[in-house]
Amino acid sequence: MTLLPRYKKLFKPYQQDGCTIEKMVMWLRKKSGAQEEIISLCVRNLFTELAHGKTFPRDICDCGCDMTNAHSAINHYLLRETLKLKGEADRSYWELLEKVDHERIIKHVEMENAAYIAANRNATGKLKRFFLRIRGRNADETSFPPTTG
Ligand SMILES: [Zn+2]
Repeated sequence: MTLLPRYKKLFKPYQQDGCTIEKMVMWLRKKSGAQEEIISLCVRNLFTELAHGKTFPRDICDCGCDMTNAHSAINHYLLRETLKLKGEADRSYWELLEKVDHERIIKHVEMENAAYIAANRNATGKLKRFFLRIRGRNADETSFPPTTG
């Protein structure tokens, strides 16, 4: 993740008690467990919002945690946004996996069916030859199933 100089300027109001963008991102990685692509995207989104004039309270966090660090509100907002996107990504992933799995099961059933039909066709052929042999006839002379008389 490249830190643009303008990011540092935008983050300045929130670092008065020692928080830096690097620390925030490290904390975010640890807390969210999100993929690096999601982290990057959410950090970029945050700074785009800051660039567009979004501000966060610096006296007390507005998420309900009552933390009073200057960086609490911005950090907690970023974590919420990241978890939201991670949740969507995870859901899409499982949906995709389920779809692939479903297709694999269908394919397997079809293959099993084909194998079953082939095996039974073969068994019918064997049975036919067996009946014909005990009746002393040639397989090509008669029809199956064997008729009496
Ligand atoms: Zn909070």
